[in-house]
Amino acid sequence: MSHKTYKTEIKPTQQQVDKILQTIGVCRFVYNLFIAVNKERYAKGETYLNGYAFSKWLNNDYRYLHPENSWIQDVSSKSVKDSVMNAHYAYQQFLSGERGFPRFKKKHLSKTGVYFPRNNPKDIEVERHRIKIPTLGFVRLKEFGYIPVGTTVTGVTIKTIAKRFYVSCTVDIPVTPTQSTGDNLGIDLGVKEFAVISTGEVFNNINKSKRVRRLNKRLKREQRRFSRKIIHRKKVTTATESTNCDKQRTKVQKIFHKLECIRKDYIKKIVSSLVKTKPASITIEDLNIQGMMKNRHLSKAIAQQNFYYFRSKLTEKCLQLGIKLRIADRFYPSSKTCSKCGATKKDLNLSDRTYICPACGLEIDRDLNAAINLKHCAHYKVA
Ligand SMILES: [Zn+2]
Repeated sequence: MSHKTYKTEIKPTQQQVDKILQTIGVCRFVYNLFIAVNKERYAKGETYLNGYAFSKWLNNDYRYLHPENSWIQDVSSKSVKDSVMNAHYAYQQFLSGERGFPRFKKKHLSKTGVYFPRNNPKDIEVERHRIKIPTLGFVRLKEFGYIPVGTTVTGVTIKTIAKRFYVSCTVDIPVTPTQSTGDNLGIDLGVKEFAVISTGEVFNNINKSKRVRRLNKRLKREQRRFSRKIIHRKKVTTATESTNCDKQRTKVQKIFHKLECIRKDYIKKIVSSLVKTKPASITIEDLNIQGMMKNRHLSKAIAQQNFYYFRSKLTEKCLQLGIKLRIADRFYPSSKTCSKCGATKKDLNLSDRTYICPACGLEIDRDLNAAINLKHCAHYKVA
């Protein structure tokens, strides 16, 4: 079995919108309460209250201590539990030293979501034009028939972005191996081009396209306007100022979301075009994105490339189609090796766009050379 995630816009009724926002609000409150309680205990040197113990405390003692907050009980208890567990995992990561102290969730995050798990098989049902969600009932889908009818869904997440609502659900789907051509593809990912394939195919960097550049400019302009409005609001607070500020926030979120959609759609297209050639395996580099992001000049360009998203989409598709996804060893010198004779060139600069082999005289595009090397790479792990 492999998983596939469907994400699509929904058209909830006003009543459902209220319920979704209420659930999101309660979940955020509970998340923050977990952090606050543990912050206090931590400061006092007391032991940490884990997610299970916290849930118990919330459902018993807290209810009697704070009857004014009984609205916590008005939303799905499973959603609340899920939120507590998210805080629990964030705290665990802090305790193990992986991350810093968990931060409080702010009200106006660009994306806020809530999870509705399935309690019994009848809880979540997918029909062509609507989806049944626990505590909400049937919600209209904007795109009919996108989520396959009759699939088993274990839970759905509802997100709100720029005043619109989206549902995402993960479904189990059987593996359907395709007749492969037996070939292996090597993919070199980069900032100049998004990807260069060992076949010579090139996928351009969409962030350099006119459409994205224009949207980026607009985003910057609206962001500037937004920050000005916030500063102004701090001085004068009238109802109109407040609405204007909210309007501007939505405007920024909308452009942001649009850009994200364009980038993600493009990646999905690349992935499906790669697997369409039915290779037996695909080899990519083990990108050290954290390391690359430390390069101040490149970090923004790298973040905009969504390499993580590309890798997770590619992994998902490869699993589904029975294609082996190989991750080349991080120290495999794919750019410094000659793809013809195997000699290595130590003094290769980032600015050298053409690889010229000192041993055999091969002259080849730098990224294509790396892609061909990845195709033949023998040091890898299977994703
Ligand atoms: Zn050579």
